Amino acid sequence: MDTSLRPNDAEIPVLPFKDAIRTARSKLLPSLPETGLGADHVEAHLRNDVAPGLNRSSQSPNYYGFVTGGVTPAAAFADNIVTETDQNVQVHLPDETISTDVEDRALRMVCELLELSPNEWSHKTFTTGATASNVLGLACGRDYVLQTAGAGPLSVAEYGLLEASRLAGILRMQVLTTVPHSSLRKAASIVGLGRASVVDVGLPDQPHRFDIPRLEAHLKEWGIGSIVVVSCAEVNTGLFATNGSDMRALRELCNTHGAWLHVDAAFGLLARALPQTEEYATLNAGVAGLELADSIAGDAHKLLNVPYDCGIFLSKHLELGTSVFGNPNAAYLNTASSENTASTDRTIPSPLNLGIENSRRFRALPVYATLAAYGREGYREMLERQIKLARGIAAYLLQSKEYQLLPQPSSPEVRDVRRLQDIYIIVLFRAIDEQRNENLVPRLNATRRLYVSATQWEGAPAVRFAIANWQVNGRDLDLVKEVLSGAVS
Ligand SMILES: *Cc1c(COP(=O)(O)O)cnc(C)c1O
Repeated sequence: MDTSLRPNDAEIPVLPFKDAIRTARSKLLPSLPETGLGADHVEAHLRNDVAPGLNRSSQSPNYYGFVTGGVTPAAAFADNIVTETDQNVQVHLPDETISTDVEDRALRMVCELLELSPNEWSHKTFTTGATASNVLGLACGRDYVLQTAGAGPLSVAEYGLLEASRLAGILRMQVLTTVPHSSLRKAASIVGLGRASVVDVGLPDQPHRFDIPRLEAHLKEWGIGSIVVVSCAEVNTGLFATNGSDMRALRELCNTHGAWLHVDAAFGLLARALPQTEEYATLNAGVAGLELADSIAGDAHKLLNVPYDCGIFLSKHLELGTSVFGNPNAAYLNTASSENTASTDRTIPSPLNLGIENSRRFRALPVYATLAAYGREGYREMLERQIKLARGIAAYLLQSKEYQLLPQPSSPEVRDVRRLQDIYIIVLFRAIDEQRNENLVPRLNATRRLYVSATQWEGAPAVRFAIANWQVNGRDLDLVKEVLSGAVS
């Protein structure tokens, strides 16, 4: 991908200045106009008054807050067609539109990029994001666990959690995980398991890794159903919960105890596209064995660099999925298929029976377009550039006397080379001087040359670079170093 085409970021700050935000806010219409202002007037209003108050979190290669991703040129082009044609990708109507074919093809291409078998992952759909995908994963897992425990056809989907649990002799459900993303607890709340059902079973000295004996003890508890969730790259550190052999152990434990295995791989997923080389050995191991899971949550609006909003959900249990998400008794929404339709077309399940929404945006098209435009090699190259920048920043922090790369190594013997190999696209650090560290994030962001987000690490403020934009290249490391050294001089 040609990153020299990126806009000259020196001209536009990453964030609008405070007075620009204030001005933009003051120009918003105070209320609904009785008589419309007209489309032309409003177009000028949006361009001149509203847009200057928006940030460039997605457009700028120097926005390193959260994990926002950017938008590739192919994806942006496709997204305009999505708006122009305004398809509702809900029911598979092979004689009326190919939108469901595009969605199916895009999902298959995503599987191919991730080295997952498109046929084995039979329940696949685009969601609004990884939060929704986690909701789907827990909803499927909840039904699976209770059916396996004895509720049988009297599923949660049909009779509700209380009745199905009673029939299965299950008193409580638990979600066993390590360093969960906040959205997992939200998902647990939505699907009726409750936020308190999420139990962290991490190792004391390596909190992202599973304490397998403790996990097993929880799984064995009588009368409790379990869903195991793997944090496939954690948002603060970018560290992976498993290393391939753990995935095999988790799979066996889940099989033995009738548990569902879900992976939250919002941004970790794309590491499956990396080459198997020494330099990526830690990352390769972090995503090894994901094919053993029952379901996977991913985000396309993060590292796939398509516009908001677009998440990915994959599960191997299509029948179970449609029993949970089926939209029954709406004859007018049945799939139409004519005599002429090739039988393969009819095998595409209607998206409205696979996820939360009935009416759905054609968010598959930007995914299809961007994967077609850049291919496996383009995505590999893009991710390698992002990792290179992250590791370049980490290397700078390691040799700096003012900053400290986090997390601290588990033992002083861990060499810097090794620590750099653990870096994916997130760099966590702090200033060594405590006072300086207190207001480091505002100082860095006040430059408006880059943006980083604040977090907490071991009770103290810390800073996070999250690199997720397709445009990043070597120039950005110089800019980052300048800003970092300027903040402590
Ligand atoms: C971003 C993220 C989520 C939530 O994704 P949304 O797209 O914001 O809904 C969930 N899990 C992890 C690990 C994430 O990084």
